Amino acid sequence: MQSLSPQRILLVHPLGYQASAAGQDISRLANIMPPLGLASMAAFLDRRGLQAEIVDCYADPVNADRLIVERLRALRPAFIGFSCTTSSFLDGVRFAELAKAELPGIRSVFGGAHVSALKERVLADYPAVDFVIAGEGEETLAELMEQEGAAVPGVVLRTGGEIRFNGYRSQGLELDTLPFPAYEKLAGYPHAYQLPIFNYPKAPNSSCISSRGCPYTCTYCDRSVFRRSFRWNSAGYLYEHLKYLRERFGIRHVNFYDDQFTFQRKRVEEFCRLMIDAPMGMTYNCAVRAEHIDFELLRLMKTAGCWMVSLGIETGDPELLAKHRQNPDLDMLAEKIRLIKRAGIRTKGLLMMGLPGENEASIRRSMDYVFSLPIDDFNLAKFTPFPGTPIYENVHELGTFEEDWEKMDCMHFQFVPHGMTRERLEELFTLFYKSHFQRPRVLLGYAAMLWKSPDSWRRFAGNLGSFLRFARSSRRIAAS
Ligand code: SF4
Repeated sequence: MQSLSPQRILLVHPLGYQASAAGQDISRLANIMPPLGLASMAAFLDRRGLQAEIVDCYADPVNADRLIVERLRALRPAFIGFSCTTSSFLDGVRFAELAKAELPGIRSVFGGAHVSALKERVLADYPAVDFVIAGEGEETLAELMEQEGAAVPGVVLRTGGEIRFNGYRSQGLELDTLPFPAYEKLAGYPHAYQLPIFNYPKAPNSSCISSRGCPYTCTYCDRSVFRRSFRWNSAGYLYEHLKYLRERFGIRHVNFYDDQFTFQRKRVEEFCRLMIDAPMGMTYNCAVRAEHIDFELLRLMKTAGCWMVSLGIETGDPELLAKHRQNPDLDMLAEKIRLIKRAGIRTKGLLMMGLPGENEASIRRSMDYVFSLPIDDFNLAKFTPFPGTPIYENVHELGTFEEDWEKMDCMHFQFVPHGMTRERLEELFTLFYKSHFQRPRVLLGYAAMLWKSPDSWRRFAGNLGSFLRFARSSRRIAAS
């Protein structure tokens, strides 16, 4: 039998929750993001003389099993790698079993937030997992493939009848030394991917990452991969990255998928000046924390093509906010949202429902707060206590928690705080969205999207039935 190639790896991005019903999955209809971590890994491995291919189950869920088997047969790689969230982890394990049945001797490597948080427990409970990479993946995966290595830092493995974590790498990568992600290895890129509806003016568009990490410690946020570091690409690198996306793939709008785009103010200023001095006809979105914006910076960002800013609010209830986030100042948040609007930038609020301590009164307060602000759009996530978050440690004392990983995707109330029921949370969730969409100012704003983002309207109209079913049920996959 032909042997397996230790220089090769097939990288897989599993879809997870009810992959077989992906056609009716509202989260896919609204947003398909390229697996940037895997694409970065693939480019890094290629530069080291290794060979990586990618199968993204988000982009093509129907053919995922067949594509994986075909690529395994053609490549005969010694490794198969998975980048998983909590909800897609078990799907990854299923693919690892499939790969082992197809190519006996292949070894599976898992990375991402879920396994970085659980480390040894993953190997103890899942025999199909051979290695876990805890933390940043590029160098660790390359060394693992090169050295077959018991000693590679960042790896959790079985050795001598034991499960061992080799400890974190002592230093993170300098991001400017990385090659641009291998977007060309994503089948159908960029057209197979789409940003959330009404979150961009033009297509084709793409997400892109320009920094890693966040130094804050919100109770609900997992910091297992980059921990509390914050590293960033220089303005010059970032400008060249966008130019590459524009020239090679025709990208016209970029969503910076950074946790904290403006944390390093100087580099954002420099980046904006580059975009203003030598424009490429591109626009962008980013997410910020309120403490790291001011009017002068926002005006500069707007001139440089900033189309929308997303800002974490989480909840409009002051007591609840104080329990879960540093600097819980709702007046400051409101003031910053007004500044974003005054700078002429579209504003999106990021909220959460069902945090420990949440009750009907706090949800009503959140609604009043949000509706008092000039917000154009918002995203309301169903609070989910992920492994690795500070709150996960004692969440069982704070409510009822059904730890069903496949449903832990922020679209199911798996945690119900004391004093609430799941049914009531669902009702209030639907009411929150309905109340938003019944406000005349908001409706006018969406009408204006007809010319501000015609591609969004085309997608919205094409999937109207699915969006209406979601509005009625608030479920990720609503029955037709
Ligand atoms: S929620 Fe945002 S600000 Fe808080 S730790 Fe996570 S990334 Fe940082």
